[in-house]
Amino acid sequence: MTKDCVLVINCGSSSLKFSLIMPQSGQTILTGLAERLLSSEASITIKLDGNKETTALVEPYDHQTALSQLVSFLYQHKCEQRLLAIGHRVVHGGEQYSKPELISDVVERTIEALAALAPLHNPVNLVGIRASRQAFSHLPQVAVFDTAFHQTMDKVAYLYGLPFELYSQHSIRRYGFHGTSHYFVAKRFAELTDSPVDDINVITAHLGNGCSVAAIAGGKCVDTSMGLTPLEGLVMGTRSGSLDPGIIFHLYKQLGYSIEQIDNLLNKESGLLGISQLSNDCRTLEQAIAEQGNEQADLAMDIFCYQISKTIASYSASLSNLDGIVFTGGIGENSSLVRQRVVNRLKLLGFAIDDSANTDTRFGKCGNIAKSSHRDCWVIPTNEEWVIAEQTYQLISEDN
Ligand code: ADP
Repeated sequence: MTKDCVLVINCGSSSLKFSLIMPQSGQTILTGLAERLLSSEASITIKLDGNKETTALVEPYDHQTALSQLVSFLYQHKCEQRLLAIGHRVVHGGEQYSKPELISDVVERTIEALAALAPLHNPVNLVGIRASRQAFSHLPQVAVFDTAFHQTMDKVAYLYGLPFELYSQHSIRRYGFHGTSHYFVAKRFAELTDSPVDDINVITAHLGNGCSVAAIAGGKCVDTSMGLTPLEGLVMGTRSGSLDPGIIFHLYKQLGYSIEQIDNLLNKESGLLGISQLSNDCRTLEQAIAEQGNEQADLAMDIFCYQISKTIASYSASLSNLDGIVFTGGIGENSSLVRQRVVNRLKLLGFAIDDSANTDTRFGKCGNIAKSSHRDCWVIPTNEEWVIAEQTYQLISEDN
């Protein structure tokens, strides 16, 4: 059997997403999810050839157990022989990694050290890497970093207005996230507009539960809205995005919040959920606006969209040319309401939307939804798994 697939692993604290992808075509052979890990409810669902199979996991219900179950499945269905390598999504690569990296013990230790910058993400990514290095010890494993695409930013864009030693001694700077998604849609934009990727000047908006915007000049990232952590920038599902840092002192000193409560408030109770007092889910809010005229939901969506427009417009200072904007992520790909509200505020930059193209371009469709003779405005479904598979394949091919 030909070795033609990369297994892509995205490990969360209680979940493990995986897919088996042919790196050159992007064809997905198998997908799956192990969820509720570390609890007795842990299960794994694997989809292959249109068949979905869910199995309860056995003790100790952990990531290793999920991977062992996946390995047996791959052997059973003769997919194991097709594996070329394993590609891992790793959230934080710091300044150390601007490209994918073949995982060695040294790389593992560096990812561990970078956990200081991403305590919620890097340790769980490492759990997946360690379990997978045990389960697939005969295969090369590659780390693909969410921060890597943004490493081309200049100091002017990535330094904060803080004492310089906080950067030089403690690495406090803007890193940015969702890099594989911004990279993928920028590359697709170049293909779709028939331009060399090094010539494109575009602003990409990844709008999912987490949201970020990136300014891309000559195919390279020059600025992005997320910062040291994914909390900065846009209003998101449950994250506040940027705010006056003085609010944190006010909450602490005047309102008696503890640091943990503030952390929880800003990351889990704010954003669309906090403002609407209804839901973090864009679909639920749209439904509440359409069916009940829910004013709080409408306000949440308006604030969400205004922040996106404002951030996009602010990148006039980062780019000398602009070919267009790209919407992606669950909201960017599906919500015509959000796209309409965002673009309506960008008239000054020469954007206007075609209403019927906007309504039609949803649910995985790709297209330019701009009104004729206006700047391009694309909806491009993202595919972060494919980027991880492709970059893993490229790296192991260079290595051989
Ligand atoms: P994640 O960041 O977790 O990967 P996604 O990219 O899947 O999340 O985006 C999730 C968001 O996309 C949710 O707010 C969800 O409501 C929104 N979304 C998904 N489908 C639709 C739709 N048809 N209309 C509006 N919003 C949608």
